[in-house]
Amino acid sequence: MNRITPYMTGSARRQKPEARGAGSSTRARYAGMTSPGTLALATRGLRKSYGSRLALDGLDLSVPSGVVYGFLGPNGAGKTTTMRLLTGLLHPDAGEIELLGQPFTRADRRRLFDVGALVESPSFYPYLSGRANLGALAAAGGHVAKGRIDELLELVGLRERAKDKVSGYSLGMKQRLGIAGALLSDPKLLLLDEPANGLDPAGIVAMRETLRRLAAVGKTVFVSSHLLAEVQVLADVVGIIAAGRLVREGTLEALLNDQGVVRVRVDREQAEAAHAALEGMSPEPASASGGDEAWLIVHVEPSRAAEVNRRLAEAGIYASGLEAGTDLEPLFLELTGGGASSEGTMQGIVQ
Ligand code: ATP
Repeated sequence: MNRITPYMTGSARRQKPEARGAGSSTRARYAGMTSPGTLALATRGLRKSYGSRLALDGLDLSVPSGVVYGFLGPNGAGKTTTMRLLTGLLHPDAGEIELLGQPFTRADRRRLFDVGALVESPSFYPYLSGRANLGALAAAGGHVAKGRIDELLELVGLRERAKDKVSGYSLGMKQRLGIAGALLSDPKLLLLDEPANGLDPAGIVAMRETLRRLAAVGKTVFVSSHLLAEVQVLADVVGIIAAGRLVREGTLEALLNDQGVVRVRVDREQAEAAHAALEGMSPEPASASGGDEAWLIVHVEPSRAAEVNRRLAEAGIYASGLEAGTDLEPLFLELTGGGASSEGTMQGIVQ
């Protein structure tokens, strides 16, 4: 198999490199993706059917090293199927997978010791404690450093319950034990299918912090989710899948900036002058907001809200309302075929 050449898809490809990136290090990594070897995970043309049902239709993923990558898609989009292929639980009908810079094929399941995964619901011996279960997993797998089990129990917040039988664990505790199990061999790449399932809000926050910490020490965390809000607070880079194909991939910051919107409410009589004052920002035609006011929309980064306000003020126009935010939710719905029924996430600045 030829080495997979990193590339970007969708708007990620169209964007200026400096416009991408959740942080400067992510930005640099993403901009550098034209040189091979910087991807922790890549797929090209991945296809998989279950009988006559096509689940993956030529999936191309490019996951840079050292980031949290949010693999986002609605129910039935093909996320779990992708995870099963990446972990060798299923074999693709066509296409290529590269894990940690090396082709991953049928004969390579042993290599999964470099890759931690939590794909199906984790299964444990119910009559053993959490610690004993991790011990059993460690004994069955590759080399596990001394003290690793206690370190992981601490990391996932199960230290206090480590001696309790797993049969008495809640769903969320089992999920956390599963994440500890996936981390046993200190993998460079971690694959987690919907890890927030079954976790309470505190558990979700704790898991998010754990995953962010792993990325901060250079691990790559590939997390699937059908929840846009979850991915928005967790991921550096996002890939959106719909009907078995990747529809958008890029850094979260770039996707958000791409979808930035500033809306201003002005006196209806001043709408035309306001439109002219915002000319360089390609405002949409003013729309009535009821009464004597009108809304103007400009598609710029939310951080440019003050500039919008200043331009209006310089033209002697004072906004009675100003909102800045992103249209990521409508974009997600539109990309995944759900229709743009939401107003997105808007933050009122002046009401
Ligand atoms: P969810 O968010 O609901 O878990 P998903 O994105 O993980 O969805 P998959 O489970 O990968 O999606 O399913 C992709 C498609 O493949 C769906 O149409 C699903 O019905 C189908 N599918 C998945 N597993 C099987 C199976 N074992 N047999 C037949 N069809 C399947």
